[in-house]
Amino acid sequence: MVSLPVIEAALARFPRIRATHAPTALEPMARMGASLGLDLTVKRDDCTGVALGGNKVRQLEFYIGDALARGADTVLITGAVQSNFVRTAAAMARRAGMDCHVQLEERVPDIDDTHRRNGNALLDRLFGATIHTFPEGEDEDAADASVARIAEGLRGDGRTPYIIGLAASTPPLGALGYVVGALELVVQHGGGPLPYDEIVVASGSAQTHCGILFGLRALGLDTPVRGICVRRAADIQEARVARRLKDMAALTGLDVSIPDSHVRCFHDARERGYGQMSAATRDAVLRAAREEGLLLDPVYTGKVLAGMIALHERGALAGRRVLFWHTGGQPALFAYADALSHET
Ligand SMILES: *Cc1c(COP(=O)(O)O)cnc(C)c1O
Repeated sequence: MVSLPVIEAALARFPRIRATHAPTALEPMARMGASLGLDLTVKRDDCTGVALGGNKVRQLEFYIGDALARGADTVLITGAVQSNFVRTAAAMARRAGMDCHVQLEERVPDIDDTHRRNGNALLDRLFGATIHTFPEGEDEDAADASVARIAEGLRGDGRTPYIIGLAASTPPLGALGYVVGALELVVQHGGGPLPYDEIVVASGSAQTHCGILFGLRALGLDTPVRGICVRRAADIQEARVARRLKDMAALTGLDVSIPDSHVRCFHDARERGYGQMSAATRDAVLRAAREEGLLLDPVYTGKVLAGMIALHERGALAGRRVLFWHTGGQPALFAYADALSHET
């Protein structure tokens, strides 16, 4: 266990810009909780304040800080056509006075014109990002190699690009934003212990999942954190999380070792693959809207709620106090307009 000031000192060694509207609210989900038979609370990281919010704002505080510290003038990032990371990176690059080049990967099969033009894709254009396209979105190494070539070209033009790298070979700087998030949650509860038996959160690149888990365990809090997979199978994702947690200990110099048994992922709601909205995910998006007036998204948080409901149906959450960590993503709702608006 590490004291709060020691963790804060470790984080303070990293360049960072401050952008998040924090602390984000904790709200009871009373109606949905009652209909599910759960004690349910949501942490509103959809409301982090920059360019329609979401979890990438906390993560990008460290990437943009690092980019500025390295004298970069252009941010470069790769992601799906409806990537929230790409949209938020473009916004935060602008805010810091930098240009942004984005590579949009064709990761979701059979997308329509609305998916290509609306939602996050529209916002990327509003921020004036230079857009590159990449056909093979499920090949992470090839996508990264392609970004490296774009960076080479920018250097040839006299620019100083900064690549926001999410590959396992790059340091998990974004996860530091969720160590900050975990500390924030603990402070919101007067220093802990937390009044939850389970935290559920989306697990994609896993920087959010890892940051929360690392931050809580560093403080000696053992609240279970369950990652709901949005892209990979649970065993593959768990291995990724475990590896990234070790990277975080190395990155921060904090002596936090987390047993593999604390790394738990669940993949029921992943069913059809990244960005493909299953019937259960669609139902979850509609249910949150109709029971709580709360907007989820079709790619991440809708899957988290669908996954949470599936876990509950298996009895895994019975009688437990659950914190649903909302991570944003609502701009993608508009890219899935057709699939969401037909009558049920
Ligand atoms: C990126 C994203 C996630 C996944 O976060 P990771 O840190 O990549 O695991 C979850 N929800 C939303 C809305 C996102 O944009």
